[in-house]
Amino acid sequence: MQTRPPIAASLVRPLVRRLRAYVPGEQPRVKGLIKLNTNENPFPPSPKVLRAIRVAVDGRLRLYPNPTAEPLREKLAAWHQCRPANIIVGNGSDELLALATRAFVEPAGASRRGGRSHGTIQFFSPSYTLYAVLAEIAGARSNPVPLAADFGLPGELAKGGWDFRAALTFVTTPNAPSGRGYATAELEELCRAQRGVVVLDEAYADFAGENAMALALRHPHVIVARTFSKAYSLCFQRVGYMAGSEELIAGLQKIRDSYNVNGLGQVAALATLSDLPYYRRGFRRIIATRQRLARELGGLGFSVLPSEANFILARPPKFPAEVWLEKLREQKILVRWFAQPETRDYLRITIGTDAQAEALLRAARAVAA
Ligand SMILES: *Cc1c(COP(=O)(O)O)cnc(C)c1O
Repeated sequence: MQTRPPIAASLVRPLVRRLRAYVPGEQPRVKGLIKLNTNENPFPPSPKVLRAIRVAVDGRLRLYPNPTAEPLREKLAAWHQCRPANIIVGNGSDELLALATRAFVEPAGASRRGGRSHGTIQFFSPSYTLYAVLAEIAGARSNPVPLAADFGLPGELAKGGWDFRAALTFVTTPNAPSGRGYATAELEELCRAQRGVVVLDEAYADFAGENAMALALRHPHVIVARTFSKAYSLCFQRVGYMAGSEELIAGLQKIRDSYNVNGLGQVAALATLSDLPYYRRGFRRIIATRQRLARELGGLGFSVLPSEANFILARPPKFPAEVWLEKLREQKILVRWFAQPETRDYLRITIGTDAQAEALLRAARAVAA
Protein backbone atom coordinates (compact mmCIF):
# COMPACT_ATOMS: atom_id res chain seq x y z
CA MET A 1 0.00 0.00 0.00
CA GLN A 2 1.19 3.45 -0.85
CA THR A 3 1.12 5.99 1.98
CA ARG A 4 1.73 9.66 1.61
CA PRO A 5 4.94 10.86 3.25
CA PRO A 6 4.33 12.80 6.47
CA ILE A 7 4.47 16.58 6.33
CA ALA A 8 7.91 17.21 7.78
CA ALA A 9 6.97 20.22 9.92
CA SER A 10 4.33 18.18 11.75
CA LEU A 11 7.07 15.82 12.95
CA VAL A 12 8.56 18.63 15.04
CA ARG A 13 7.16 18.86 18.60
CA PRO A 14 4.45 21.55 18.88
CA LEU A 15 6.48 23.22 21.66
CA VAL A 16 9.45 23.50 19.31
CA ARG A 17 7.33 24.67 16.37
CA ARG A 18 5.92 27.50 18.51
CA LEU A 19 9.30 28.44 19.93
CA ARG A 20 10.74 31.88 19.21
CA ALA A 21 14.44 31.04 19.19
CA TYR A 22 17.10 33.23 20.80
CA VAL A 23 18.56 35.73 18.35
CA PRO A 24 22.29 36.34 18.98
CA GLY A 25 23.96 39.59 17.97
CA GLU A 26 24.97 39.75 14.33
CA GLN A 27 28.40 38.45 13.29
CA PRO A 28 28.63 40.51 10.08
CA ARG A 29 30.50 39.25 7.04
CA VAL A 30 30.89 42.82 5.80
CA LYS A 31 34.52 43.97 5.94
CA GLY A 32 35.55 47.16 7.73
CA LEU A 33 32.65 47.31 10.17
CA ILE A 34 33.63 48.27 13.74
CA LYS A 35 31.90 45.66 15.83
CA LEU A 36 30.52 47.01 19.10
CA ASN A 37 27.42 44.80 19.25
CA THR A 38 28.20 41.56 21.12
CA ASN A 39 30.44 42.59 24.04
CA GLU A 40 33.49 40.82 22.69
CA ASN A 41 36.83 41.90 24.15
CA PRO A 42 38.74 44.20 21.76
CA PHE A 43 42.09 42.76 22.90
CA PRO A 44 43.38 39.40 21.68
CA PRO A 45 44.04 36.48 24.05
CA SER A 46 47.43 36.52 25.77
CA PRO A 47 50.37 35.41 23.56
CA LYS A 48 50.80 32.49 25.98
CA VAL A 49 47.26 31.32 25.22
CA LEU A 50 47.79 31.53 21.45
CA ARG A 51 51.04 29.57 21.83
CA ALA A 52 49.39 26.90 24.00
CA ILE A 53 46.68 26.38 21.38
CA ARG A 54 49.22 26.16 18.53
CA VAL A 55 51.31 23.65 20.44
CA ALA A 56 48.21 21.52 21.10
CA VAL A 57 47.30 21.29 17.41
CA ASP A 58 48.93 18.01 16.37
CA GLY A 59 48.15 14.30 16.10
CA ARG A 60 46.51 14.39 19.54
CA LEU A 61 43.44 15.92 17.93
CA ARG A 62 42.36 12.31 17.25
CA LEU A 63 41.95 11.70 21.02
CA TYR A 64 38.95 12.59 23.17
CA PRO A 65 39.58 15.48 25.56
CA ASN A 66 39.43 15.11 29.34
CA PRO A 67 35.73 14.31 29.89
CA THR A 68 35.35 16.34 33.09
CA ALA A 69 37.85 19.09 32.22
CA GLU A 70 39.65 18.00 35.37
CA PRO A 71 42.89 20.02 35.10
CA LEU A 72 40.85 23.14 34.38
CA ARG A 73 38.46 22.48 37.28
CA GLU A 74 41.45 22.01 39.60
CA LYS A 75 42.95 25.32 38.55
CA LEU A 76 39.61 27.14 38.82
CA ALA A 77 39.08 25.62 42.28
CA ALA A 78 42.48 26.87 43.43
CA TRP A 79 41.64 30.34 42.09
CA HIS A 80 38.25 30.53 43.79
CA GLN A 81 39.37 28.67 46.93
CA CYS A 82 36.95 25.80 46.64
CA ARG A 83 37.18 22.16 45.57
CA PRO A 84 37.05 20.78 42.01
CA ALA A 85 33.72 19.15 42.99
CA ASN A 86 32.32 22.69 43.33
CA ILE A 87 33.02 23.45 39.65
CA ILE A 88 31.49 22.35 36.34
CA VAL A 89 32.87 23.52 32.99
CA GLY A 90 30.62 23.98 29.97
CA ASN A 91 30.63 24.71 26.26
CA GLY A 92 30.24 28.39 27.08
CA SER A 93 28.17 29.44 30.08
CA ASP A 94 25.08 29.33 27.84
CA GLU A 95 25.28 25.53 27.87
CA LEU A 96 25.38 25.54 31.66
CA LEU A 97 22.38 27.88 31.92
CA ALA A 98 20.45 25.39 29.76
CA LEU A 99 21.65 22.46 31.88
CA ALA A 100 20.40 24.28 34.99
CA THR A 101 16.89 24.42 33.53
CA ARG A 102 17.04 20.67 32.89
CA ALA A 103 18.48 19.77 36.31
CA PHE A 104 16.38 22.02 38.57
CA VAL A 105 13.05 22.69 36.86
CA GLU A 106 10.05 20.42 36.21
CA PRO A 107 7.86 21.12 33.18
CA ALA A 108 4.99 23.48 34.15
CA GLY A 109 1.99 21.61 35.53
CA ALA A 110 4.10 19.18 37.56
CA SER A 111 2.94 18.95 41.18
CA ARG A 112 4.27 21.28 43.85
CA ARG A 113 6.46 19.47 46.32
CA GLY A 114 8.61 20.80 49.14
CA GLY A 115 6.92 24.18 48.85
CA ARG A 116 8.60 25.19 45.59
CA SER A 117 7.07 26.22 42.30
CA HIS A 118 8.66 23.33 40.45
CA GLY A 119 7.83 24.61 37.01
CA THR A 120 8.85 28.26 37.34
CA ILE A 121 11.95 29.98 35.94
CA GLN A 122 12.29 33.53 37.21
CA PHE A 123 14.40 36.48 36.10
CA PHE A 124 14.39 40.24 36.03
CA SER A 125 13.26 42.21 33.02
CA PRO A 126 15.22 43.51 31.26
CA SER A 127 18.10 41.08 31.65
CA TYR A 128 19.71 38.39 29.47
CA THR A 129 17.01 37.51 26.93
CA LEU A 130 18.16 33.89 26.70
CA TYR A 131 16.48 32.95 30.01
CA ALA A 132 12.93 33.24 28.63
CA VAL A 133 13.88 31.11 25.63
CA LEU A 134 15.41 28.44 27.90
CA ALA A 135 12.18 28.42 29.93
CA GLU A 136 10.13 27.87 26.78
CA ILE A 137 12.41 25.04 25.64
CA ALA A 138 12.10 23.44 29.08
CA GLY A 139 8.31 23.71 28.92
CA ALA A 140 8.54 25.74 32.13
CA ARG A 141 6.63 28.82 33.24
CA SER A 142 8.53 32.12 32.87
CA ASN A 143 8.22 34.72 35.60
CA PRO A 144 9.81 37.95 34.34
CA VAL A 145 9.79 40.58 37.10
CA PRO A 146 10.25 44.23 36.10
CA LEU A 147 13.29 46.05 37.48
CA ALA A 148 12.91 49.54 38.94
CA ALA A 149 12.80 52.45 36.45
CA ASP A 150 16.54 53.05 37.00
CA PHE A 151 17.16 49.32 36.33
CA GLY A 152 17.97 48.74 40.03
CA LEU A 153 16.47 45.82 41.95
CA PRO A 154 12.82 46.54 42.84
CA GLY A 155 12.36 47.79 46.41
CA GLU A 156 9.63 45.36 47.33
CA LEU A 157 10.04 42.14 45.40
CA ALA A 158 6.71 40.60 46.43
CA LYS A 159 4.78 43.59 45.05
CA GLY A 160 6.35 43.14 41.63
CA GLY A 161 5.13 39.54 41.37
CA TRP A 162 8.34 37.92 42.60
CA ASP A 163 8.00 34.20 43.39
CA PHE A 164 10.11 33.25 46.41
CA ARG A 165 9.43 29.60 45.59
CA ALA A 166 10.51 29.60 41.93
CA ALA A 167 12.49 26.45 41.15
CA LEU A 168 15.16 28.49 39.36
CA THR A 169 15.99 32.20 39.46
CA PHE A 170 18.52 33.82 37.10
CA VAL A 171 20.09 37.13 38.10
CA THR A 172 22.51 38.78 35.66
CA THR A 173 25.06 40.73 37.69
CA PRO A 174 26.29 43.15 36.53
CA ASN A 175 23.11 43.23 34.51
CA ALA A 176 22.85 43.19 30.73
CA PRO A 177 21.87 45.21 28.81
CA SER A 178 21.73 47.92 31.51
CA GLY A 179 25.35 47.48 32.72
CA ARG A 180 24.14 48.11 36.24
CA GLY A 181 25.96 46.28 39.05
CA TYR A 182 24.24 45.06 42.22
CA ALA A 183 25.84 45.14 45.67
CA THR A 184 26.74 41.67 46.99
CA ALA A 185 24.87 42.44 50.24
CA GLU A 186 21.71 43.16 48.23
CA LEU A 187 22.12 39.93 46.25
CA GLU A 188 22.70 37.93 49.44
CA GLU A 189 19.45 39.23 50.87
CA LEU A 190 17.64 38.16 47.71
CA CYS A 191 19.29 34.71 47.82
CA ARG A 192 18.39 34.19 51.48
CA ALA A 193 14.70 34.74 50.73
CA GLN A 194 14.68 32.24 47.88
CA ARG A 195 13.57 28.60 48.27
CA GLY A 196 14.77 27.31 44.87
CA VAL A 197 18.10 27.54 43.06
CA VAL A 198 19.55 30.99 42.32
CA VAL A 199 22.03 31.35 39.45
CA LEU A 200 24.03 34.58 39.58
CA ASP A 201 25.14 35.07 35.97
CA GLU A 202 28.44 36.93 36.29
CA ALA A 203 29.49 37.09 32.64
CA TYR A 204 30.74 40.68 33.20
CA ALA A 205 31.97 40.47 36.82
CA ASP A 206 35.59 41.23 35.87
CA PHE A 207 34.63 44.75 34.82
CA ALA A 208 32.79 45.45 38.10
CA GLY A 209 33.81 46.73 41.51
CA GLU A 210 32.68 43.59 43.33
CA ASN A 211 31.48 40.07 42.59
CA ALA A 212 29.30 37.51 44.35
CA MET A 213 31.44 34.36 44.09
CA ALA A 214 31.47 34.08 47.89
CA LEU A 215 27.68 33.61 47.89
CA ALA A 216 27.95 30.44 45.78
CA LEU A 217 30.39 28.94 48.23
CA ARG A 218 28.42 30.04 51.31
CA HIS A 219 24.82 29.14 50.31
CA PRO A 220 24.04 25.60 49.11
CA HIS A 221 21.28 26.79 46.74
CA VAL A 222 23.33 29.52 45.01
CA ILE A 223 25.43 29.08 41.85
CA VAL A 224 27.69 31.60 40.17
CA ALA A 225 28.12 31.34 36.37
CA ARG A 226 31.25 32.76 34.72
CA THR A 227 32.59 32.68 31.20
CA PHE A 228 35.96 32.95 29.44
CA SER A 229 34.17 34.58 26.50
CA LYS A 230 33.94 38.29 27.27
CA ALA A 231 36.60 39.21 29.83
CA TYR A 232 39.11 36.57 28.67
CA SER A 233 38.79 37.08 24.91
CA LEU A 234 37.77 33.47 24.19
CA CYS A 235 34.25 33.71 22.67
CA PHE A 236 35.46 31.59 19.76
CA GLN A 237 36.50 28.70 22.02
CA ARG A 238 33.27 28.39 24.05
CA VAL A 239 34.30 27.84 27.67
CA GLY A 240 32.28 28.82 30.74
CA TYR A 241 31.86 27.41 34.22
CA MET A 242 29.63 27.33 37.27
CA ALA A 243 30.62 27.23 40.93
CA GLY A 244 28.32 26.06 43.72
CA SER A 245 27.58 23.37 46.26
CA GLU A 246 28.77 19.83 45.47
CA GLU A 247 25.17 18.61 45.37
CA LEU A 248 23.97 21.09 42.74
CA ILE A 249 27.14 20.73 40.67
CA ALA A 250 26.85 16.92 40.80
CA GLY A 251 23.30 17.22 39.45
CA LEU A 252 24.54 19.24 36.48
CA GLN A 253 27.48 16.86 35.88
CA LYS A 254 25.07 13.91 35.57
CA ILE A 255 23.14 15.34 32.64
CA ARG A 256 25.79 17.03 30.51
CA ASP A 257 27.25 15.46 27.36
CA SER A 258 30.27 13.25 28.10
CA TYR A 259 32.72 15.51 26.24
CA ASN A 260 30.94 18.82 26.46
CA VAL A 261 34.09 20.98 26.49
CA ASN A 262 36.31 20.66 23.43
CA GLY A 263 40.01 19.99 23.94
CA LEU A 264 41.41 23.22 22.48
CA GLY A 265 38.96 25.15 24.66
CA GLN A 266 40.30 23.40 27.74
CA VAL A 267 43.89 24.13 26.67
CA ALA A 268 43.08 27.79 26.02
CA ALA A 269 41.25 28.29 29.32
CA LEU A 270 44.05 26.61 31.32
CA ALA A 271 46.67 28.84 29.69
CA THR A 272 44.45 31.88 30.38
CA LEU A 273 44.54 31.14 34.10
CA SER A 274 48.34 31.15 33.95
CA ASP A 275 48.43 34.72 32.67
CA LEU A 276 45.76 36.61 34.65
CA PRO A 277 47.86 39.81 35.02
CA TYR A 278 47.74 40.21 31.20
CA TYR A 279 43.92 40.21 31.32
CA ARG A 280 43.74 42.52 34.35
CA ARG A 281 45.67 45.15 32.36
CA GLY A 282 43.00 44.84 29.66
CA PHE A 283 40.17 45.26 32.20
CA ARG A 284 41.75 48.51 33.43
CA ARG A 285 42.01 49.84 29.88
CA ILE A 286 38.40 48.90 29.07
CA ILE A 287 37.13 50.53 32.27
CA ALA A 288 39.09 53.72 31.51
CA THR A 289 37.69 53.82 27.95
CA ARG A 290 34.18 53.15 29.32
CA GLN A 291 34.41 56.19 31.58
CA ARG A 292 35.78 58.44 28.85
CA LEU A 293 33.20 57.28 26.29
CA ALA A 294 30.33 57.79 28.76
CA ARG A 295 31.54 61.33 29.45
CA GLU A 296 31.99 62.25 25.79
CA LEU A 297 28.69 60.74 24.67
CA GLY A 298 27.07 62.66 27.52
CA GLY A 299 28.55 65.82 25.97
CA LEU A 300 26.82 64.94 22.67
CA GLY A 301 23.44 64.73 24.38
CA PHE A 302 23.31 61.01 25.06
CA SER A 303 21.89 59.92 28.39
CA VAL A 304 24.33 57.22 29.53
CA LEU A 305 23.54 54.83 32.37
CA PRO A 306 26.32 54.04 34.85
CA SER A 307 27.96 50.73 33.86
CA GLU A 308 30.04 48.08 35.60
CA ALA A 309 30.39 45.99 32.45
CA ASN A 310 32.28 46.19 29.13
CA PHE A 311 29.36 47.96 27.48
CA ILE A 312 27.13 50.94 28.13
CA LEU A 313 23.43 51.50 27.63
CA ALA A 314 22.80 54.97 26.25
CA ARG A 315 19.70 56.88 25.14
CA PRO A 316 20.64 58.87 22.04
CA PRO A 317 19.39 62.40 21.25
CA LYS A 318 17.43 63.71 18.24
CA PHE A 319 16.38 60.41 16.59
CA PRO A 320 14.85 57.20 17.90
CA ALA A 321 17.47 54.62 18.92
CA GLU A 322 16.42 52.34 16.07
CA VAL A 323 17.22 55.10 13.57
CA TRP A 324 20.60 55.68 15.24
CA LEU A 325 21.33 51.97 14.80
CA GLU A 326 20.95 52.34 11.02
CA LYS A 327 22.75 55.69 10.79
CA LEU A 328 25.71 54.38 12.78
CA ARG A 329 25.81 51.31 10.56
CA GLU A 330 26.05 53.58 7.51
CA GLN A 331 29.12 55.04 9.26
CA LYS A 332 30.52 51.50 9.64
CA ILE A 333 29.75 51.22 13.37
CA LEU A 334 27.69 48.25 14.53
CA VAL A 335 25.97 48.53 17.94
CA ARG A 336 23.00 46.64 19.45
CA TRP A 337 19.37 47.64 19.80
CA PHE A 338 16.72 45.66 21.69
CA ALA A 339 13.10 46.13 20.63
CA GLN A 340 11.58 45.42 24.07
CA PRO A 341 9.61 48.37 25.54
CA GLU A 342 12.04 48.89 28.47
CA THR A 343 15.09 49.16 26.22
CA ARG A 344 13.84 50.36 22.84
CA ASP A 345 14.92 53.95 23.52
CA TYR A 346 18.52 52.87 24.11
CA LEU A 347 21.57 51.61 22.26
CA ARG A 348 23.88 49.09 23.86
CA ILE A 349 27.45 49.88 22.93
CA THR A 350 30.35 47.50 23.59
CA ILE A 351 33.53 49.14 24.89
CA GLY A 352 36.27 48.60 22.33
CA THR A 353 39.76 50.06 22.03
CA ASP A 354 40.43 53.78 22.39
CA ALA A 355 40.66 54.04 18.60
CA GLN A 356 37.25 52.36 18.21
CA ALA A 357 35.78 54.74 20.81
CA GLU A 358 37.18 57.66 18.77
CA ALA A 359 35.60 56.26 15.60
CA LEU A 360 32.27 55.88 17.37
CA LEU A 361 32.42 59.45 18.66
CA ARG A 362 33.27 60.77 15.18
CA ALA A 363 30.33 58.87 13.72
CA ALA A 364 27.99 60.02 16.50
CA ARG A 365 29.01 63.66 15.90
CA ALA A 366 28.27 63.23 12.20
CA VAL A 367 24.86 61.67 12.87
CA ALA A 368 23.90 64.28 15.48
CA ALA A 369 25.08 67.23 13.34
C1 LIG B 1 27.56 36.52 26.88
C2 LIG B 1 26.72 36.10 28.03
C3 LIG B 1 26.62 34.76 28.40
C4 LIG B 1 27.14 33.64 27.56
O1 LIG B 1 28.45 33.51 27.49
P1 LIG B 1 29.11 32.24 26.78
O2 LIG B 1 30.02 31.73 27.84
O3 LIG B 1 29.81 32.78 25.60
O4 LIG B 1 28.06 31.24 26.45
C5 LIG B 1 25.90 34.44 29.52
N1 LIG B 1 25.26 35.38 30.23
C6 LIG B 1 25.31 36.67 29.90
C7 LIG B 1 24.58 37.67 30.72
C8 LIG B 1 26.03 37.07 28.78
O5 LIG B 1 26.03 38.34 28.41
